[in-house]
Amino acid sequence: MNIREICKDAERIGISGHIRPDGDCAGSCLGLSLYLKKLFPEKEVKVFLEKPADIFSCIKGFSEIVVLEEGMPKVEPFDVYFALDARKDRLGAAEKFFEEAETTVNIDHHVSNAEGCGTYNYVYPEASSTCELVYELVEEEMLDADIAAALYIGIVHDTGVFRYSCTSPKTMQAAAKLIGTGIDFPKLIEETFYEKTYVQNQIMGRALLESMLIMDGRCIVSYIDKKTMDFYQVTSKDFEGIVSQIKLTKGTDCAVFMYEIRTLEYKVSLRSTDKVNVAKVAEMFGGGGHVRAAGCTMNGTFHDVINNLTVHIEEQLEGAGA
Ligand code: 5GP
Ligand code: MN
Repeated sequence: MNIREICKDAERIGISGHIRPDGDCAGSCLGLSLYLKKLFPEKEVKVFLEKPADIFSCIKGFSEIVVLEEGMPKVEPFDVYFALDARKDRLGAAEKFFEEAETTVNIDHHVSNAEGCGTYNYVYPEASSTCELVYELVEEEMLDADIAAALYIGIVHDTGVFRYSCTSPKTMQAAAKLIGTGIDFPKLIEETFYEKTYVQNQIMGRALLESMLIMDGRCIVSYIDKKTMDFYQVTSKDFEGIVSQIKLTKGTDCAVFMYEIRTLEYKVSLRSTDKVNVAKVAEMFGGGGHVRAAGCTMNGTFHDVINNLTVHIEEQLEGAGA
């Protein structure tokens, strides 16, 4: 796929990623917009996203993101619209911009979006991250430190600092080129991935303290309800990293972390080893993701949600001969 070719006649280009943007989503959207602005300084290039966490404000262009809100004014259709790190139905309020655009491009690595939803599709579930895919599409001589920092952050977040199995030789080659631009990569890793605010550590502590082993210790579950969120004054952005931490519990094949988004409605995060395909579990409830990291939204009490999930997790474990 050639981005220069696809965009050469466009005057107005829009870019969006999924709702509740993470590092890969924010990094790929901003990295692509920096690249497009460098390729075509005369064109209008806009990024529409729900507000990403403040830790990503170190990425150039962060302050120019148009934050998606209810009741946004109508926008004239774009000539080219990019959906990154998601299929169009996860773009939230930007889905209509994608649908109205003349030409659409989908760049993604989610297995639950294997076909792609654009006029042009660059969808590879084996890629570590959407940032790795955007890196492949950036012309080498156009790469600079600003673009590199954006893409490096996304790769770091989706690979858990190059330790998840989605990390490939291609990922490391991309990372090598990116750090070759001179970015302060230890600082980017420290400040966007590891560093937590005091309340973020407190809420992680709560989630760990209250976690429970189920299914003979093969699965670990924890949740934070609305009351607890209000007490600590935390939002969904403060839960990044909790499910991965819970998953580190020795002997577990699957980890479930959920938080209440509305009364009796939970956002569920799933992590697993190779024995459980959590993308399949999440798809049962209208969600999706990757084989070892996926999510969905579910209704009911915490116990209802766990009961509904465990049926499918157990099925997977049995399938894997466990
Ligand atoms: P997380 O648990 O970190 O929110 O998400 C893990 C992975 O699953 C990410 O790649 C994320 O994009 C995907 N994911 C999370 N929730 C949903 C969902 O409701 N629908 C789909 N299709 N993917 C999701
Ligand atoms: Mn991603």
